[in-house]
Amino acid sequence: LPFEVQEEIECLYDFVPEVEQHFVVTNKIGEGTFSSVFLARLKHYPDVDQLFALKHIIPTSHPSRIEGELQCLQEIGGCDNVMGVELCIRQRDHVVIVMPYFPHEKFQDYMLTMSLLEVQAYMKNLLVALRRVHQFNIIHRDVKPSNFLYNSSTKQYALVDFGLAHKAPAPKDKTTTKTISPLLPSKIVESQENQNLKNIQQPENPGLKPQFDKQRHPDRMLIRKSKSPRRLLLAKRALMVKEKEMIRSKGENSRSPSISTCQCYGQPTVCTICTSRSNQQAPRAGTPGFRAPEVLIKCPHQTTAVDIWSAGVIFLCLLSGRYPFFRANDDMTALAQIISIFGSEDVKKSAVTYGKQLLCNPTTPALDLKTMCYKLRSGAQCKQSKTTPWTNVSDSAFDLLRKLLDLNPHTRISAEDALKHSFFSEKWD
Ligand code: ADP
Ligand code: MG
Repeated sequence: LPFEVQEEIECLYDFVPEVEQHFVVTNKIGEGTFSSVFLARLKHYPDVDQLFALKHIIPTSHPSRIEGELQCLQEIGGCDNVMGVELCIRQRDHVVIVMPYFPHEKFQDYMLTMSLLEVQAYMKNLLVALRRVHQFNIIHRDVKPSNFLYNSSTKQYALVDFGLAHKAPAPKDKTTTKTISPLLPSKIVESQENQNLKNIQQPENPGLKPQFDKQRHPDRMLIRKSKSPRRLLLAKRALMVKEKEMIRSKGENSRSPSISTCQCYGQPTVCTICTSRSNQQAPRAGTPGFRAPEVLIKCPHQTTAVDIWSAGVIFLCLLSGRYPFFRANDDMTALAQIISIFGSEDVKKSAVTYGKQLLCNPTTPALDLKTMCYKLRSGAQCKQSKTTPWTNVSDSAFDLLRKLLDLNPHTRISAEDALKHSFFSEKWD
């Protein structure tokens, strides 16, 4: 093992001694922004072949996020291609989620060698997982290849990483929704020291207060020193002013976009009064290239449709042989890339459906997805000899692609309906 990995394993043992009591950690298998994932086997049962993936979550994560991740794994996971949880160990602010180890390959390694039949099975299994998650009215919010694990030899799939998962607004038809209990999973192992700490949200040092640090981690909470009483008062006042502004801007946003509220409304340059207004708040967790247009345009009411868009981007990668398909560091670049494929008029029209006006200059036409995918894939084929050539991609594949990548979240296909699409009944030789 490389020295750094050995060191990281030692650190894990130090932070959470109970890991070492029960497991032998043999390697590191993954690292995301908010966690490190290790491979382990049971220490006292050498005959047991089962391997485990130990996800050590960075201690600065907000406790409610960790709770949410565990709830999803425990209540939604374990079936329909959704990863489950075996155990959770906590030592003070360190949390280790123990999951069954799922051997998998890298997306880049299999995406060009997949046959159409495999792509069909892959997309079907992804939608099965999303249907399961969405039945609980949960938005995964980070659907992308590194969170949908695939084992090409066993033909197994696993949707992982509920670190950014969120409850969606209640759907109109409540009858089909399963509820997720508000309780923490029952399997949490408490070490002797932890028994005294009543709950995970209790700060160790009363002088430390959890606060959002939006600049560094927009979706995670950091523990910071609390402010002095005077600074606290000023901060409170600033917050109240901000709240008032938000209420005002909410009122403005709920109006029809055709009614302008300022002379600069709808103009290419924004006046100084408007630039000094606070930004609209909307969830924007996830990975830029997989974010749906309504997320990029900051629509505050997002639904499970955002995951369907991301699934569509994965399908687009497979059909075009390009990964990542959209490569953007910020939301506006990501939106510009979407506009360059889907055309400015269609993106503008869909923005209106969620109360936003989009100005685009110059206007760009929509591309034909089928032609574009054929061109890109043949280009990728030339570069890589191991590519499986496709000659018979049916129109139904592109019809499904268009329905997953529907710019309008209200009409975008659901996972359940997508599974009934004719693409999944196609047969190839
Ligand atoms: P993060 O929130 O840091 O992205 P993830 O849960 O996505 O954490 O895990 C990071 C990586 O670790 C994944 O992309 C995957 O490669 C690997 N991984 C996660 N869970 C498992 C598992 N149960 N079995 C095998 N590998 C896993
Ligand atoms: Mg991840």
